[in-house]
Amino acid sequence: EAFNTAVADAAELNAFIVTTPDHALAAADAADAKRARGEDLGIMGGVPIGMKDLFATRGVQTTAASHILEGFTPEYESTVSQKLWDAGAGMLGKLNLDQFAMGSSNETSYFGNVNSPWRKEGSNAAMSPGGSSGGSSSAVAARIAPAATGTDTGGSIRQPAAFTGICGIKPTYGRCSRWGVVAFASSLDQAGPMARNVEDCAIMLEAMAGFDPKDATSLQMDVPTWEAGLDADLKGKKIGIPKEYRMDGTDEEILKSWEQGKEWLRDAGATIVDVSLPHTKYALPAYYIVAPAEASSNLARYDGVRYGLRDLPDGAGLQDMYAATRAAGFGDEVKRRILIGTYVLSAGFYDAYYTQAQKIRTLVSQDFEKAFAQCDAILAPTTPTASFPLGSLNEDPLTMYLNDVFAVPASLAGLPAMSVPATVNSDGLPLGLQIVGKPFDEQGVLNAGLAIQ
Ligand code: GLN
Repeated sequence: EAFNTAVADAAELNAFIVTTPDHALAAADAADAKRARGEDLGIMGGVPIGMKDLFATRGVQTTAASHILEGFTPEYESTVSQKLWDAGAGMLGKLNLDQFAMGSSNETSYFGNVNSPWRKEGSNAAMSPGGSSGGSSSAVAARIAPAATGTDTGGSIRQPAAFTGICGIKPTYGRCSRWGVVAFASSLDQAGPMARNVEDCAIMLEAMAGFDPKDATSLQMDVPTWEAGLDADLKGKKIGIPKEYRMDGTDEEILKSWEQGKEWLRDAGATIVDVSLPHTKYALPAYYIVAPAEASSNLARYDGVRYGLRDLPDGAGLQDMYAATRAAGFGDEVKRRILIGTYVLSAGFYDAYYTQAQKIRTLVSQDFEKAFAQCDAILAPTTPTASFPLGSLNEDPLTMYLNDVFAVPASLAGLPAMSVPATVNSDGLPLGLQIVGKPFDEQGVLNAGLAIQ
């Protein structure tokens, strides 16, 4: 398919923070050697992938796109990246992202905005690749990397996948180890693959998933053979359409693509049923309490002592060093989240905000449980709009947060959810559709995705 692209080369996309061609070449050589010896290459054998710069990579700078981690070179490898190397993959480089994975447009990175390879028809304006996994979406959409890792706390795999016309799946919470992944909101963070199609996502997820004793929330479950289980025949399957997702402010063309998605699933043999997720409208505000609360706690470790940046003014004491380092090291959005998080966790406000948000989280999960008594998977838009020009929303955090309105409910409930490309709109920009599945039913999600793609 043709892109409306004005971006010719990788440097203009700014998708990578560092490149590691030797790593990718070594994996290709290893695959060649194995092939020559008649050995199994591994399911990712020789495949060069992009690694979101939120995964710790031994000997390669890991920044979370923040100044505070600039120059931090881990002595250890994240479990997910290690699993990918064990499966034969190699690394093209560390991909740009929103700082600490906080954002929906890839404009909060210390290392600059990431460009989408897509352009509106007849316009040269640089478009957002989505966020926070915007380096991943941009590199895969531009065909620089066949696949990339992403992480999704409240939509950061699915929204950028939708904005750039690629696939991305967030598995059930606990499928992929969080060990060695820079923490944002630990009860929500999940790694997942981003790739051109459902098949590649299935293969890569198999390589990434699996129990890890180093992550206390890791699922003690075998990894299914998702690729072998792919089947676009949905006969006997019921797909739920949540009526509360028909929200004001959703683009007409998105609603049209949702209708089209129902048709495709019907053609694949599924029955479409109406379901209700009554607490949907509370999910986004609850997310923007829970996620910053956890972030404010997780980010306390960046003190100028242990990692990366240290700002030690002349004659300063320890407190001054903390303050100076954090003032210089964190970007505005990160500071906003820390302020919100510490506020909602403070003694006087904890019950009014944090406890309430946790109650809403339970209600959102219960909504899904009830809906899944009537259907096997849920079909919804991934985002309320298509991609927008860089710079158009970053003065307006609330509108930016609204981008995740369809993504966060599945995050709060820990459910597997995928975005698959559906169509392009009248501006020539891609639109994605989202499939949300029952806990542990990545297979059902992938299969419905296969029927749509
Ligand atoms: N855009 C959301 C946020 O800023 C989600 C980010 C994510 O999933 N990492 O919090």
